[in-house]
Amino acid sequence: MKIVSACLAGINCAWDGKNRTSKKVTKMVEKGEAIPVCPEQLGGLSTPRIPAEIQKNKVIDQKGNDVTENFRKGALEALHLAKMVNCQQAILKKHSPSCGKSVIYDGTFNNVKIKGNGVFAEMLLKHGIDVITEEEI
Ligand code: SF4
Repeated sequence: MKIVSACLAGINCAWDGKNRTSKKVTKMVEKGEAIPVCPEQLGGLSTPRIPAEIQKNKVIDQKGNDVTENFRKGALEALHLAKMVNCQQAILKKHSPSCGKSVIYDGTFNNVKIKGNGVFAEMLLKHGIDVITEEEI
């Protein structure tokens, strides 16, 4: 079973209240091959919400609020779900501070990208679950 970023499956859970639909990901969910999950919602953040980026070891939203604990809690809940369904691979939304893999925004909100993983992607990788982005399907 795979876990996928819920926004890629057409669910309106992104910070702006919209989705980031990928047809391939949506098809996997429709066929019962993948389960959609949004770690930021599971961490108690509202939708829509203020966009956030990783700054060193913290996650800070654009108004300066520290939302690190929401991101950690949501990633843990989503990891719990991934383990429950014996997930071997996750397909996660690129560049997100939760779901991004290998490349994320740099914390300046200037659309600059740097090397790094989102909080959820990093947690999955640490627990031996393979992570790819929607562009690597
Ligand atoms: S946390 Fe992940 S699933 Fe949720 S909106 Fe952001 S990229 Fe999509």
